[in-house]
Amino acid sequence: INDSLGHEVGDRLLRAVAGRLQAIVRQGDTVARLGGDEFVVMLVDLPRADEAALVAHEIVQALSRPLRFDERLLHVTASLGLATFPADGDSAELLLKQADAAMYRAKAEGRNGFQCYTRDMGLQALQRVELQSALRLAVEHDQFELHYQPQVAPESGRIVAVEALLRWRHPVLGNVSPDRFIPLAEETGLIAPIGRWVLRSAGRQLQAWHAAGHTRLVMAVNLSARQFITQDIPQLVRETLELCGLPPQALELELTETALMHNAESVHATLSTLKAIGVLLALDDFGTGYSSLNHLRRFPIDTIKIDKSFTAEIATSDDTAAIVRAIVEMAGSLGVEIVAEGVEHEQQLRLLAALHCHRVQGYHIGRPMPAAELAPLLGV
Ligand code: C2E
Ligand code: CA
Ligand code: CA
Ligand code: CA
Repeated sequence: INDSLGHEVGDRLLRAVAGRLQAIVRQGDTVARLGGDEFVVMLVDLPRADEAALVAHEIVQALSRPLRFDERLLHVTASLGLATFPADGDSAELLLKQADAAMYRAKAEGRNGFQCYTRDMGLQALQRVELQSALRLAVEHDQFELHYQPQVAPESGRIVAVEALLRWRHPVLGNVSPDRFIPLAEETGLIAPIGRWVLRSAGRQLQAWHAAGHTRLVMAVNLSARQFITQDIPQLVRETLELCGLPPQALELELTETALMHNAESVHATLSTLKAIGVLLALDDFGTGYSSLNHLRRFPIDTIKIDKSFTAEIATSDDTAAIVRAIVEMAGSLGVEIVAEGVEHEQQLRLLAALHCHRVQGYHIGRPMPAAELAPLLGV
C-alpha cells in the first residue's frame, strides 16, 4: 500500500484488508495491525504445522481480489512470513522477528506470496538490521563520498556531463554498494537527508568546475522514487541552485520509471514545476520498465538514458541494435537527448557514435572516480 494513496484512503483500505483476514481465520485466532501496513495473524492450536501454509495461501488469494473504493478498484499485494512455535522460537518477540525475516524474503521473491522462516534468513535479517543502524550513523559521521562518471559527446570526445554516484565507505563493512544501501535508505526514510547531501555536494562540485572554466558542464544527479514522493524536490533544487549560484540547465535529474509510476498526477505536477525552474529531466534505465514509451508521452523528459542491458548487446544482437536505432530516431523527432550507458567496448562506442547518440557513458570511457581524478580529464 503505497504512500501516494493518502492517509484516509490508506486507512480505509487497511480496514478492508483486516476484514478479509478476519473472515479467513478461525474463532480464537488473532488478527492485529502491527503499524504501518503490517499485520500479525496468530493461529493457535493448529493440528499440523503445515496448515499455517494453507492459511497463508488462502490469505494471499483473498487479498488479491481487487477492492472497490468509491470510483476506483484497488489492488493489494501481500507478502507473508511464517514462523512456528516452538520450532522457530519460544517467545512472541522471537517469533515476530523470524516472521519478519521470512516476510522480507517473500518480498524479495516478488511479493504476493509467503515464505516460511529458515535459519539463514535470521542471519540475513541480522545483517539488515546492522546495516540499517550503520547507515543511520553514516549520515552523521560523514562516510559518504560522491564519485563522478564522465559522459562524452562521441564526435568531439569532450566530456559534456558527469553523473554523480554515491559511495559509502564504512570503517568496518568497507565499501557498501549503492544497490544495497539505497533500497534500505528508502525503506527507513534516510533517503531524505542522504538525497539532500547528494544534491548539495554535487552542486558545490559543479560550481567549482564551472568556476575553473568548464562553464557548460552538466551534472546529473540520481533521485529515487521514494524521494520523489516524500521530499519537496523542487524546493530542494531551488535552494541548491541558489546556494551554488548555478544556472538551472546545468543540473540534470535522473529519474527511474518507478518514480513515475506512483501517483502519476502529483508526479506530473512536480515534474512541471521542475521544468519551470529549468533543470533537465532524464529518464534512467530506459527500456527496462513497463511502459517506457507512455512515460515519454506524458512527462516533460529532456533526456533518455538507454539502459546498459541494451548497450551490452548492441554489437552482438541485430535485434537489439535495431531497437536502439529506433529509440535514437524517435528521440530525435521528439527533441530528446540520448545517453547510452554501460559502454564497455570500443565496438559499442563506434556503433553508438554512428547512430548519433548524443552522449556515451561507461567503463570504456571512464569509471566513476573522485573529483580530483576527474579534474585533469575535464581540463580544469
Ligand atoms: P544507475 O543510476 O543506473 O547508475 C549506473 C550504474 O552503472 C553505476 O553503478 C555505475 O557505476 C555503473 N556503471 C557505469 N558504467 C558501467 C559499465 O560500463 N558497465 C557496467 N556494468 N556498469 C557501469 P553504482 O555506482 O553501483 O550505482 C548503482 C545504482 O545506485 C545506480 O544505478 C542508482 O540507481 C543508485 N544510485 C547511485 N548513486 C545514487 C544517489 O546519489 N542517489 C540515488 N537515489 N541513487 C543512487
Ligand atoms: Ca509495506
Ligand atoms: Ca543513473
Ligand atoms: Ca541507469
